[in-house]
Amino acid sequence: MLSERMQSAINAQINAELWSAYLYLSMSMDAANKGMKGIANWFAIQFKEEQDHAQIFINYINSQGGRVLLAPIAAVDTEWKSPLAMFEQTLIHEQKVTSLINGLYNLAIEEKDHATKNMLDWFIDEQVEEEESARDIIDQMRMVEGNKFGLYMIDKEMATRTYTTPSPLATE
Ligand code: MG
Repeated sequence: MLSERMQSAINAQINAELWSAYLYLSMSMDAANKGMKGIANWFAIQFKEEQDHAQIFINYINSQGGRVLLAPIAAVDTEWKSPLAMFEQTLIHEQKVTSLINGLYNLAIEEKDHATKNMLDWFIDEQVEEEESARDIIDQMRMVEGNKFGLYMIDKEMATRTYTTPSPLATE
């Protein structure tokens, strides 16, 4: 069973994951609008993954007999000055999400809520990957800054990213 405090913290995290989804969908739309199909694809997959993250938390609350409460999703930016700016915001945002996940983890420890702590382990690892992939792309984009052909090649490579269902949902 979830404490009231834990349940409302996880509900807040559901909102944060859905906000992330909305942010990445907006980036995908901006990239598509500017003809960068690969980057649009990359963010479209990111959009799906963030919805999956929300779904994992939703399933978890339901499996504990708790109550999911969906709050309004705040507005997101609609335009970025460059693809690099998108990925810089992505990294800053993912670092913030990491600190939110760490906060949930600390609360689980404080409440001796071992089930929630175990569920969060997957997210701890996932955040390392999220930050790493944003950082790698920022590095690549900085390498080719000002070189349109370089950006074209990165966009081409990003078109090859494919979606895979995250393991906590794949087993269902
Ligand atoms: Mg997420």
